[in-house]
Amino acid sequence: MAKETEIKIALYTSGFCEAHEKVVNPKKGLNKLRFYAVWALIHVPDLGYMMFDTGYSNHFETATRSFPEILYKFATPVQLKHQEKAIVILSKKGIHHSEIKYIIISHFHADHIAGLKDFPEAKLICTKAAFYQTQNLKGLSAVSKGIIHKLIPNDIKERIVFIEDISSQTTNEFGITEYTWTQIPNFKLLLLPGHAKGMLGFYDKGSNLLFATDAAWDKDCFNKGIMPLQVVRIFIDSWFDLKDTMEKLSRMKHANPDMKIVFTHCPKTLQLISNEI
Ligand SMILES: [Zn+2]
Repeated sequence: MAKETEIKIALYTSGFCEAHEKVVNPKKGLNKLRFYAVWALIHVPDLGYMMFDTGYSNHFETATRSFPEILYKFATPVQLKHQEKAIVILSKKGIHHSEIKYIIISHFHADHIAGLKDFPEAKLICTKAAFYQTQNLKGLSAVSKGIIHKLIPNDIKERIVFIEDISSQTTNEFGITEYTWTQIPNFKLLLLPGHAKGMLGFYDKGSNLLFATDAAWDKDCFNKGIMPLQVVRIFIDSWFDLKDTMEKLSRMKHANPDMKIVFTHCPKTLQLISNEI
């Protein structure tokens, strides 16, 4: 049983898109694989509720009706049931959207931020690199990097909080940058670049859980060091950093074999859904 003073984390999934298994593991075939959009609800004593990402929402459908955003919908057709939306899941738990004080944005890809507009009161935490990329890319260039501006709240500049400005920054023994927020010293945000610019994951010491976002798409591939199909390189921010981050996480896992490492889209992550970790 978690003590009252501890952070509580629960994982949920809001919709999924499909791709061929081959995309994730080049040795596999053309069977369809579901990419679940997993997010975390985090309760911090004295601070309240935070979320890490939001998964898909109805806003994805409305934001991708016209060119160039419609290309994103064609590339990753999304399935989302009403009861799977973050806002509905929270409401069933008795949590009003205004109780979510912070949403940590791992990175600005649509499958991670499509629900942001459902939480108009939340402060939005991310890295400077992730935020400024959204500001600098427009039109097709933005869509090709997984960024759909219509999903980003219009008042984001008033609500954004850069993790660099509210935390102390260190590099751990595996070479990964860790951001420690003074209010929650046992909960670290990890800089995991490669898949997307300035991408964040988190490590919670209490539960020994490392949520590595999209540093890999599949846990088996991560364990075996298998990189995605080369064709996805165009969507990846830096292939070099993706490989480097995977190697650093692999060393971190080997040094802490009991650590649970999970990835946003891996089917194995579903085993942890809805259960407090
Ligand atoms: Zn993703």
